[in-house]
Amino acid sequence: MQLRIEKSNQLKPLPEDESKLGFGIHFTDHMFLLNYDEGEGWHDARIVPYASIPLDPAAMVLHYGQEVFEGLKAYRTPEGNIQLFRPEENFKRLNLSNERVCIPQIDEQFALEALKELLKIDERWVPHNVGTSLYIRPFIFATDAHVGVRAGAHYLFIIIMSPVGAYYAAGLAPINIYVERKYVRAVKGGTGTAKTGGNYSASLKAQQLANLQDCAQVLWLDGIDKEYIEEVGAMNVFFVIDDKVITPSLEGSILSGITRKSSIALLQSWGYTVEERRLSIKEIIEANRNGTLKEAFGTGTAAVISPMGLLRVDDEDIIINNREIGPISQRLYDELTGIQRGTLQDTYGWITPV
Ligand SMILES: *Cc1c(COP(=O)(O)O)cnc(C)c1O
Repeated sequence: MQLRIEKSNQLKPLPEDESKLGFGIHFTDHMFLLNYDEGEGWHDARIVPYASIPLDPAAMVLHYGQEVFEGLKAYRTPEGNIQLFRPEENFKRLNLSNERVCIPQIDEQFALEALKELLKIDERWVPHNVGTSLYIRPFIFATDAHVGVRAGAHYLFIIIMSPVGAYYAAGLAPINIYVERKYVRAVKGGTGTAKTGGNYSASLKAQQLANLQDCAQVLWLDGIDKEYIEEVGAMNVFFVIDDKVITPSLEGSILSGITRKSSIALLQSWGYTVEERRLSIKEIIEANRNGTLKEAFGTGTAAVISPMGLLRVDDEDIIINNREIGPISQRLYDELTGIQRGTLQDTYGWITPV
């Protein structure tokens, strides 16, 4: 497929202070677009100046939410080069999400090549400071002007990019977590394994209530017993009990995180026993009571590793590791961010140079 490139003749000023980038606020000079029309397939790949897009008010995505997205980052090495972390995994997962919500499959290889091209054009937007990166958001949605529930016949695939700082303003600091007993994020057979917008819409209510209780994120339990731990916001979760690292097994309602998969590989290479299994909130409460609960942390592209310092369960507060960053959380954070920035050796072949 041809990739047409139209460069902007009015480049934006870069954000002035890299220590104040925030997350998802600034956008680069260009974006990638690709259309799908039934009968014709994906066509008209192009990189164009970042701008608003025309959309019919009847566009199906606005009414029935047929949409998927991804999130990955480009990092600048100390030498000034730019690299991606396991990007082929993101495009693979985008197609898994597509499959679930009846969006046609994309050419993963072509999408990655187009992304690399976009990165070369907007290269100056990849920030330099430690802890910063360029967040990349590929997404696809139905554009048919049609008010009626069915799968679309027309789609738009877009990639936009945003220079970001630390996901949490406080950086790598333990966060408070609200364990949600009433609302659920996903059930087996639902769309929990897909990165599709509706899942996040469904999570907002509980997130708001958690924020009111001074908690940064919601810990979701399973949709049936409301007892088994699933995941947190946009992160998978790990608990250290005794000397074992436990993470909920992927049984059809949890998003399969690339940071989760990478963390498991690193932990196993360091000799830790990693158990992927059902894990109840009761087991966590008991481990806390008998002193065997050592650490808890979330994993995800945005925050990388996010230690949890407090779990609020049914009006009871469980304090974890004295609300300090635990050794396993710290080591995983250092290792992953080191590989991503190119200051540690990439022995797994996880890095793709741009
Ligand atoms: C994106 C996401 C994750 C983390 O996935 P990564 O590939 O590690 O970024 C976990 N849970 C949910 C619900 C997500 O949307």
